[in-house]
Amino acid sequence: MVLCYNLVMYDVIIIGAGMAGLTAAIYGRRAGKSVLVLENKIYGGQIMDTLRIENWPGDFGVSGAELMKKVYNQALTLGAKIEFEEVIKVEKVDNEFRVKADSNEYLAKTIIFAVGTEDRKIGLAREEELVGLGVSYCATCDGALFKGKDVAVIGGGNTALYDALYLSDVAKKVYLVHRRNSFRGDVALVDKVRKKENVELVLESQPEEILGDEKVEGLMLDNGRILGVSGIFVAVGKKPATSRFAELVKLDEKGYIEADEGCKTSCDGIFAAGDCRVKSVRQLVTAAADGAVAAEAAINYLNE
Ligand code: NAP
Repeated sequence: MVLCYNLVMYDVIIIGAGMAGLTAAIYGRRAGKSVLVLENKIYGGQIMDTLRIENWPGDFGVSGAELMKKVYNQALTLGAKIEFEEVIKVEKVDNEFRVKADSNEYLAKTIIFAVGTEDRKIGLAREEELVGLGVSYCATCDGALFKGKDVAVIGGGNTALYDALYLSDVAKKVYLVHRRNSFRGDVALVDKVRKKENVELVLESQPEEILGDEKVEGLMLDNGRILGVSGIFVAVGKKPATSRFAELVKLDEKGYIEADEGCKTSCDGIFAAGDCRVKSVRQLVTAAADGAVAAEAAINYLNE
């Protein structure tokens, strides 16, 4: 690996270009601070997979991609710099931060972690090997591939319920497999799912084995029942993408960054925004709110 050193000192380096990170960039730039956003995938975060958002005030029914394109362009227009690189390590040296990305190194006076979460796996044998061959973590991305086929959705939260609803309009039959007999997701969504004739609720059941050699041909449950599905949509929640930063900031037992309502972490000069921090409501609006709060906190820290 060749490192080429770019030793510009930024006021704020934001790690993650989802709603929290890009909102922080907008606030940072509006306060006249130099801002670099580092993102390892594409901008926009997990909301990019949502086709229709009904709880973003003022833009009823907007798609995630449409909304995030506007937010991304807004950050760029205000002068934020955005680089697409994976951050490997962040170190604190005296009162500055050294950010090692996969091909460059950067310096900053403050850091905002807005790294979001990643899909949790069920932990079945061959689950990861069969991604793209029937196993998916995104119904809106891959659902169309299962037109007229039978599929299973695993999980009992809002994501699983949304996925079951979405897939019921595409697939022939949808099995919603959930390990308990009550749902964690919203009652209104559960009601909608129950009304769908081609959705079967398979409750108090846990997936045990994925069947099929080269692609998914079925799913065996812990009670021995076999669902003859060609698609398995895993929606068993998210986990924070924070393990790389565990030496720098305090994490809770699930790996979320401990930060107060002011987004301040256990390390001076580091702030955390959005789904990666300990909080009770993880929604698009609270991610945006966190972005603003974390940026303000970083600005105050810089001005002190
Ligand atoms: P979640 O609410 O954490 O639900 C995860 C589900 O997966 C739970 O029902 C859980 O079962 C089940 N599960 C976990 N591990 C499992 C395993 N190993 N095997 C089988 N099942 C397992 O996750 P989510 O649905 O992704 O939602 C995450 C957050 O985003 C939530 O706060 C949610 O409200 C929010 N969200 C909001 C919207 C919206 O538009 N309003 C849309 C999607 C998500 P148990 O219930 O038994 O624990």
